[in-house]
Amino acid sequence: MKTKDKGFNTKLIHAGAFDDEFGSATVPIYQTSTFRFKNAQHGADCFSGKSDGYIYTRIGNPTIRAFEQNIAELENGFDGIATSSGMGAVSSVYMALLGAESHIISSDAVYGPARGLLEQDFSRYNVEASFVNTSKVENIIAAIRPNTKVLYIETPANPTMDITDIATCSKIAKEHNLLLVVDNTFCSPYLQKPLDFGADVVLHSITKFINGHADIVGGVIVAKDPEIYKKIRHSMVYMGCNMDPTQAFMVLRGVKTLAIRIERAQENAMKVAEYLQSHPKVAWIKYPGLESHPQFELAKKQMNGFGSMMSFGLKGGYEAGRKLMDNVHLAILAVSLGGVETLIQHPASMTHAGVSKENKNAAGITDDLVRFSVGIEDVDDIINDLKYGLSNI
Ligand SMILES: *Cc1c(COP(=O)(O)O)cnc(C)c1O
Repeated sequence: MKTKDKGFNTKLIHAGAFDDEFGSATVPIYQTSTFRFKNAQHGADCFSGKSDGYIYTRIGNPTIRAFEQNIAELENGFDGIATSSGMGAVSSVYMALLGAESHIISSDAVYGPARGLLEQDFSRYNVEASFVNTSKVENIIAAIRPNTKVLYIETPANPTMDITDIATCSKIAKEHNLLLVVDNTFCSPYLQKPLDFGADVVLHSITKFINGHADIVGGVIVAKDPEIYKKIRHSMVYMGCNMDPTQAFMVLRGVKTLAIRIERAQENAMKVAEYLQSHPKVAWIKYPGLESHPQFELAKKQMNGFGSMMSFGLKGGYEAGRKLMDNVHLAILAVSLGGVETLIQHPASMTHAGVSKENKNAAGITDDLVRFSVGIEDVDDIINDLKYGLSNI
């Protein structure tokens, strides 16, 4: 079905789907590594691009294509590139858009491995990287060098919930001939469409909100421009970080409920945030939907809702953080986010334990910070769980 002129919820269900000869209502799993050519000429045409027939699953596969086209429509982009994981998306984008002696400016609170890959690996190929708090535009401008090629932002950032102004970044990027890449994992296209604000490339860990059920790992990239799309697809195919057909089937199933999952989760999140804000053992809370968030106005401008991610600090610091982890029972003590289930984690002793104290402080990842991903359970149960956990500190 043609869905280009349809609404977002209709696209969630139907975009990218195609009719097969059996009339399948959903896109089947094409669990095959390779595809039979009709004859020698057809094989030659597939390779030369004269035919868009499938060749080999690392290069393309019908189930994976359906997901790529689905997400491209959701993000209002040219086309999508599905990857084995969110990091597969990040590495394909770096590989395609950076080169020897080039420079990238990235959010300092960017996803840990997205930073580590630049610092530990791309640095060996003389790619330079600067990490700044991109929620303050002047930091970005000050970091621009003659060899800067890419501005890479994550908004809201993980786990600080700092928000970066996408439209302003796009203006700066255009003025200085940079490509703007946005990691949209924390929002999903339901809450934020970076390409509409002028970004060139948007990427996701679909492990989080887009699949939404904590049962697969995967990633996706959407580019606005065909030339950039081709470059990134080349890197993905040659590095071999393709999605597989079963992953694609799972995420096609998960994405259908994206809107209703996020609506419920953010309704819960607002109530949880209000509860935490008034709790005497909570030192601070950062949730984009609270007026106390320093970029509340910007959140209203560029997001279609406030999402279900928040971070908060405990008056008892590091030890209190660990105590809370051990005294909640409904919230699952686990990394990851954006699923139907509520998850809690303590970055200082978990995800960011390997980051130096200096870099942690610079990025605002304090010892007392607790990250909370609110699920779609009954909100009273989520709040009671926190109430019990906090009473044990
Ligand atoms: C999880 C995550 C990633 C990496 O994705 P994987 O699927 O784990 O490889 C990248 N960016 C953000 C913001 C994430 O939360």
